[in-house]
Amino acid sequence: MSLCALCMAQIDRPGHFPPHARLARRGQVLTAAGYAFAYQCEDCSHAILLAAAHEDAPDRWVLADDIPGTG
Ligand SMILES: [Zn+2]
Repeated sequence: MSLCALCMAQIDRPGHFPPHARLARRGQVLTAAGYAFAYQCEDCSHAILLAAAHEDAPDRWVLADDIPGTG
């Protein structure tokens, strides 16, 4: 299933952008850059992480498939 419109609008936003209404918290996952907050969409079921690309990078909303060490 492709990303729903809410998730499309969420991806690549900075970390201070709030999660959309259909995103449910799924705890934390360990990525190559450290811990990230995991969310899953209740509409399209895609996993989205609030994660940094590397240690010094600011958090961004990313599709879980894009994070090394997950999926
Ligand atoms: Zn979605």
